[in-house]
Amino acid sequence: MLPAHATSLKAAVRQITDKPVTYIFNTHDHSDHMGSNDVFTADGATAIQVEGTSENDEVADFSATYGSAEVRIYAVVSHTKADRLVFLPGPNVLFMGDTFTTDWHPTFYAGGAEGQLATIAAALEIADDDTVIVPGHGPLSDRQGLMVYQKAFKDWIDRMAALDAGSKSTDQLRADAGLRSIAARFMQGQRPAELPEQAYRRFIERTVTVEFSK
Ligand SMILES: [Zn+2]
Repeated sequence: MLPAHATSLKAAVRQITDKPVTYIFNTHDHSDHMGSNDVFTADGATAIQVEGTSENDEVADFSATYGSAEVRIYAVVSHTKADRLVFLPGPNVLFMGDTFTTDWHPTFYAGGAEGQLATIAAALEIADDDTVIVPGHGPLSDRQGLMVYQKAFKDWIDRMAALDAGSKSTDQLRADAGLRSIAARFMQGQRPAELPEQAYRRFIERTVTVEFSK
Protein backbone atom coordinates (compact mmCIF):
# COMPACT_ATOMS: atom_id res chain seq x y z
CA MET A 1 0.00 0.00 0.00
CA LEU A 2 0.97 3.66 -0.06
CA PRO A 3 3.44 4.76 2.66
CA ALA A 4 0.66 6.76 4.33
CA HIS A 5 -1.29 3.53 4.80
CA ALA A 6 1.55 1.50 6.33
CA THR A 7 0.31 2.04 9.88
CA SER A 8 -3.18 0.74 9.17
CA LEU A 9 -1.72 -2.14 7.15
CA LYS A 10 0.48 -3.10 10.12
CA ALA A 11 -2.51 -2.86 12.45
CA ALA A 12 -4.48 -5.18 10.17
CA VAL A 13 -1.63 -7.72 10.26
CA ARG A 14 -1.55 -7.48 14.07
CA GLN A 15 -5.21 -8.42 14.25
CA ILE A 16 -4.29 -11.73 12.62
CA THR A 17 -0.91 -12.62 14.12
CA ASP A 18 1.79 -11.54 16.57
CA LYS A 19 4.48 -12.98 14.29
CA PRO A 20 6.79 -10.61 12.46
CA VAL A 21 6.32 -9.84 8.77
CA THR A 22 9.27 -11.66 7.21
CA TYR A 23 8.66 -11.55 3.45
CA ILE A 24 6.94 -9.17 1.07
CA PHE A 25 5.80 -10.04 -2.44
CA ASN A 26 4.61 -7.32 -4.77
CA THR A 27 2.08 -8.03 -7.52
CA HIS A 28 3.43 -5.09 -9.59
CA ASP A 29 5.47 -1.96 -9.15
CA HIS A 30 2.79 0.71 -8.65
CA SER A 31 3.22 2.81 -5.54
CA ASP A 32 -0.19 1.98 -4.08
CA HIS A 33 0.97 -1.66 -4.00
CA MET A 34 4.62 -1.42 -2.97
CA GLY A 35 4.90 2.08 -1.52
CA SER A 36 5.06 0.85 2.07
CA ASN A 37 7.71 -1.85 1.47
CA ASP A 38 10.33 0.31 3.20
CA VAL A 39 8.30 0.50 6.39
CA PHE A 40 8.28 -3.30 6.64
CA THR A 41 11.87 -3.87 5.48
CA ALA A 42 12.98 -1.36 8.14
CA ASP A 43 11.46 -3.79 10.65
CA GLY A 44 13.43 -6.68 9.18
CA ALA A 45 11.20 -7.99 6.39
CA THR A 46 12.72 -9.07 3.08
CA ALA A 47 11.06 -7.77 -0.09
CA ILE A 48 11.36 -10.59 -2.63
CA GLN A 49 12.64 -9.00 -5.79
CA VAL A 50 11.10 -10.41 -8.92
CA GLU A 51 12.62 -9.43 -12.23
CA GLY A 52 10.62 -7.05 -14.35
CA THR A 53 8.86 -3.75 -13.88
CA SER A 54 5.98 -2.10 -15.69
CA GLU A 55 8.62 -0.61 -18.01
CA ASN A 56 10.53 -3.81 -18.57
CA ASP A 57 8.70 -7.08 -19.09
CA GLU A 58 11.20 -9.64 -17.85
CA VAL A 59 9.24 -11.79 -15.47
CA ALA A 60 9.23 -15.57 -15.33
CA ASP A 61 7.13 -17.99 -13.33
CA PHE A 62 8.82 -19.41 -10.27
CA SER A 63 8.05 -21.12 -7.03
CA ALA A 64 10.04 -21.24 -3.83
CA THR A 65 9.64 -21.99 -0.15
CA TYR A 66 10.06 -19.26 2.44
CA GLY A 67 10.11 -20.56 6.00
CA SER A 68 7.25 -23.06 5.91
CA ALA A 69 5.33 -21.33 3.13
CA GLU A 70 5.41 -22.36 -0.50
CA VAL A 71 4.87 -19.42 -2.84
CA ARG A 72 4.17 -19.67 -6.55
CA ILE A 73 4.57 -16.65 -8.79
CA TYR A 74 2.96 -16.53 -12.21
CA ALA A 75 4.07 -13.88 -14.70
CA VAL A 76 1.25 -12.26 -16.69
CA VAL A 77 0.80 -9.11 -18.78
CA SER A 78 -2.43 -7.26 -18.21
CA HIS A 79 -2.54 -4.21 -15.93
CA THR A 80 1.22 -3.66 -16.42
CA LYS A 81 3.84 -5.33 -18.57
CA ALA A 82 5.06 -7.19 -15.49
CA ASP A 83 2.15 -8.36 -13.35
CA ARG A 84 2.51 -11.31 -10.99
CA LEU A 85 -0.18 -13.59 -9.68
CA VAL A 86 1.04 -14.66 -6.23
CA PHE A 87 -0.37 -17.98 -5.03
CA LEU A 88 0.04 -19.54 -1.60
CA PRO A 89 -1.05 -23.18 -2.02
CA GLY A 90 -0.95 -23.87 1.73
CA PRO A 91 -3.67 -21.44 2.87
CA ASN A 92 -5.06 -21.51 -0.71
CA VAL A 93 -4.95 -17.77 -1.34
CA LEU A 94 -4.37 -16.13 -4.71
CA PHE A 95 -3.35 -12.47 -4.95
CA MET A 96 -4.13 -10.98 -8.36
CA GLY A 97 -2.97 -7.39 -7.91
CA ASP A 98 -4.67 -4.97 -10.28
CA THR A 99 -5.42 -7.63 -12.89
CA PHE A 100 -8.68 -8.08 -10.95
CA THR A 101 -10.74 -5.57 -8.97
CA THR A 102 -14.11 -5.92 -7.26
CA ASP A 103 -14.97 -2.25 -6.82
CA TRP A 104 -13.61 -0.67 -9.99
CA HIS A 105 -13.47 -1.14 -13.73
CA PRO A 106 -10.74 -3.28 -15.32
CA THR A 107 -7.43 -1.49 -15.98
CA PHE A 108 -6.08 -3.87 -18.59
CA TYR A 109 -4.18 -1.32 -20.63
CA ALA A 110 -0.77 -3.00 -20.88
CA GLY A 111 -1.96 -6.38 -22.14
CA GLY A 112 -5.18 -5.40 -23.90
CA ALA A 113 -8.25 -7.61 -23.94
CA GLU A 114 -6.12 -10.61 -24.89
CA GLY A 115 -3.85 -10.15 -21.88
CA GLN A 116 -6.76 -9.61 -19.50
CA LEU A 117 -8.55 -12.75 -20.67
CA ALA A 118 -5.34 -14.81 -20.57
CA THR A 119 -4.69 -13.61 -17.01
CA ILE A 120 -8.21 -14.53 -15.88
CA ALA A 121 -7.86 -17.93 -17.54
CA ALA A 122 -4.55 -18.51 -15.74
CA ALA A 123 -6.11 -17.56 -12.40
CA LEU A 124 -9.10 -19.84 -12.95
CA GLU A 125 -6.63 -22.63 -13.69
CA ILE A 126 -4.76 -21.99 -10.42
CA ALA A 127 -7.80 -21.49 -8.18
CA ASP A 128 -10.24 -24.10 -6.98
CA ASP A 129 -13.68 -23.55 -5.44
CA ASP A 130 -12.16 -22.91 -1.99
CA THR A 131 -9.46 -20.45 -3.05
CA VAL A 132 -9.68 -16.98 -1.54
CA ILE A 133 -8.95 -14.58 -4.39
CA VAL A 134 -7.57 -11.22 -3.30
CA PRO A 135 -8.24 -8.45 -5.85
CA GLY A 136 -6.02 -5.39 -6.17
CA HIS A 137 -8.86 -3.21 -4.89
CA GLY A 138 -12.23 -4.05 -3.33
CA PRO A 139 -13.59 -6.82 -1.12
CA LEU A 140 -12.18 -10.37 -1.15
CA SER A 141 -13.50 -12.67 -3.83
CA ASP A 142 -13.33 -16.20 -5.16
CA ARG A 143 -13.57 -18.23 -8.35
CA GLN A 144 -17.24 -17.30 -8.78
CA GLY A 145 -16.50 -13.59 -8.39
CA LEU A 146 -13.68 -13.82 -10.92
CA MET A 147 -16.03 -15.51 -13.38
CA VAL A 148 -18.55 -12.66 -12.95
CA TYR A 149 -15.73 -10.25 -13.79
CA GLN A 150 -14.64 -12.40 -16.75
CA LYS A 151 -18.16 -12.42 -18.22
CA ALA A 152 -18.61 -8.69 -17.69
CA PHE A 153 -15.25 -8.02 -19.34
CA LYS A 154 -16.11 -10.12 -22.39
CA ASP A 155 -19.50 -8.40 -22.64
CA TRP A 156 -17.83 -4.98 -22.34
CA ILE A 157 -15.47 -5.67 -25.24
CA ASP A 158 -18.23 -7.29 -27.33
CA ARG A 159 -20.59 -4.35 -26.78
CA MET A 160 -17.82 -1.89 -27.70
CA ALA A 161 -17.20 -3.87 -30.90
CA ALA A 162 -20.94 -4.01 -31.71
CA LEU A 163 -21.11 -0.23 -31.33
CA ASP A 164 -18.08 0.14 -33.61
CA ALA A 165 -16.47 2.09 -30.78
CA GLY A 166 -13.52 3.31 -32.84
CA SER A 167 -15.86 5.42 -34.99
CA LYS A 168 -17.86 6.90 -32.07
CA SER A 169 -17.22 9.82 -29.77
CA THR A 170 -16.81 9.25 -26.03
CA ASP A 171 -20.13 11.04 -25.45
CA GLN A 172 -21.93 8.77 -27.91
CA LEU A 173 -20.54 5.73 -26.10
CA ARG A 174 -21.43 7.20 -22.70
CA ALA A 175 -25.03 7.51 -23.89
CA ASP A 176 -25.31 3.75 -24.52
CA ALA A 177 -27.38 2.16 -21.75
CA GLY A 178 -26.13 -1.35 -22.53
CA LEU A 179 -22.50 -0.36 -22.06
CA ARG A 180 -23.33 1.44 -18.82
CA SER A 181 -25.14 -1.54 -17.33
CA ILE A 182 -22.20 -3.82 -18.15
CA ALA A 183 -19.83 -1.41 -16.36
CA ALA A 184 -21.99 -1.61 -13.24
CA ARG A 185 -21.33 -5.37 -13.08
CA PHE A 186 -17.65 -4.74 -12.32
CA MET A 187 -18.71 -3.12 -9.02
CA GLN A 188 -19.36 -6.44 -7.32
CA GLY A 189 -21.65 -5.95 -4.39
CA GLN A 190 -20.77 -2.28 -4.10
CA ARG A 191 -23.38 0.34 -3.31
CA PRO A 192 -23.86 2.50 -5.22
CA ALA A 193 -22.96 0.18 -8.09
CA GLU A 194 -21.79 2.99 -10.30
CA LEU A 195 -18.42 4.36 -11.24
CA PRO A 196 -17.81 8.09 -10.81
CA GLU A 197 -18.64 9.67 -14.18
CA GLN A 198 -15.09 10.93 -14.68
CA ALA A 199 -13.74 7.40 -14.17
CA TYR A 200 -16.38 5.94 -16.48
CA ARG A 201 -15.40 8.40 -19.21
CA ARG A 202 -11.74 7.49 -18.85
CA PHE A 203 -12.51 3.77 -18.89
CA ILE A 204 -14.32 4.22 -22.22
CA GLU A 205 -11.50 6.35 -23.63
CA ARG A 206 -8.79 3.92 -22.56
CA THR A 207 -10.71 0.92 -23.89
CA VAL A 208 -11.06 2.61 -27.28
CA THR A 209 -7.37 3.56 -27.31
CA VAL A 210 -6.18 0.09 -26.41
CA GLU A 211 -8.61 -2.02 -28.44
CA PHE A 212 -10.46 -0.04 -31.07
CA SER A 213 -8.25 2.66 -32.54
CA LYS A 214 -5.92 0.51 -34.64
ZN1 LIG B 1 -1.63 -0.77 -10.26
